[in-house]
Amino acid sequence: MLRNKLPGKGTTIFTVMSKMAQDEGAINLSQGLPDFDGPQALRERVAHHMAHGHNQYAPLAGVMGLRQQIAAKVLDLYGCHIDPDSEVTVTPGATEAIFCAITAVVHPGDEVIVFDPAYDTYEPSVTLNGGRTRHIALHYPDFAIDWQQVKDSITDRTRLIILNTPHNPTGTLWGEQDIQQLREVIAGRDIHLLSDEVYEHICFDDRPHLSLLRYPDLAARTFVISSFGKTYHATGWRVGYCIAPHPLMEEFLRIHQFINFSTNTPLQYAIADFLRDCPQHHRELGAFYQPKRDLFLELLKKSKFGMPPSRGTYFQLADYSAVSTEPDTEFAARLTREYKVAAIPISVFYLDPPQQQIVRFCFAKHDDTLREAAERLLRL
Ligand code: GLN
Repeated sequence: MLRNKLPGKGTTIFTVMSKMAQDEGAINLSQGLPDFDGPQALRERVAHHMAHGHNQYAPLAGVMGLRQQIAAKVLDLYGCHIDPDSEVTVTPGATEAIFCAITAVVHPGDEVIVFDPAYDTYEPSVTLNGGRTRHIALHYPDFAIDWQQVKDSITDRTRLIILNTPHNPTGTLWGEQDIQQLREVIAGRDIHLLSDEVYEHICFDDRPHLSLLRYPDLAARTFVISSFGKTYHATGWRVGYCIAPHPLMEEFLRIHQFINFSTNTPLQYAIADFLRDCPQHHRELGAFYQPKRDLFLELLKKSKFGMPPSRGTYFQLADYSAVSTEPDTEFAARLTREYKVAAIPISVFYLDPPQQQIVRFCFAKHDDTLREAAERLLRL
């Protein structure tokens, strides 16, 4: 018998709910994935590079052309200069990047601060490295961070704070006051930051994405992680990246080389071409998704759900307390079985779930899919 390294952890909620959606023939608004393909020109570049000999191992840190395009992008968007040779690594998905960054920092006994609801890969990655997470719970509807509580949670063993903006699952964005508070709580301490920014291009209502790459003092201690899957409607491609100052990246690479060694080669060439030829795609991604958010909210205006508009990501929370007092895991299962719409319960992202009745819907769907789902949800 093997001894479980992650006691209490079952199968991830995304797999559970997508399977339930499939088994029940429900519209799947649970796991975050578009029901449409990314740009045809990009897909053609993948085919092109496969047909033209780009099929062997890529360099450890990624294809240089892609690293250069990532550097050009963060200079353009965030005014941040990075060295493509030593400060960026392309990874098979952001999930691996998160694991490598955590593994690079966390030694047994170290503490890591996470904000709940926290994406479900953070805590297991800390645990597998012998670290301990300290959880700060954020609450519906605004999920604002209590910075005094953060300050009180920092100890001499705190090595890392994990932040995520735009935030999955709540759809909130960090503001300048969060950046300032963060700066104050870590001042003079040997604490690193992991900034999960995989939804960086999906911000609404003209609010900017506050990448930590905008702030040189913070970027100097940060692993910034992003993803091409969200940006190019291709979550199955598994291509993400990490940006970090050279000394941090050295440790990151030491780990990455023994986990995946490198990332899918033809995809990297194709994404590099597309970033160069079509930067408007990522610049306009917020404008692409905002009408979908608005359509979904409009369709459900007369529903019993409370839905404070998402400010970023392709997720929308729904408060169902006017409909039922069931725990959200039960409600999400019943919604899938009886109403044929799958959603993600939020309580699974808390160490200690507060009394709130909230599920998450993904609106990265064709408008017709959203219309059909809303029609079913209006029956509640
Ligand atoms: N990031 C996706 C979500 O939040 C899920 C990714 C996964 O299934 N691992 O829905």
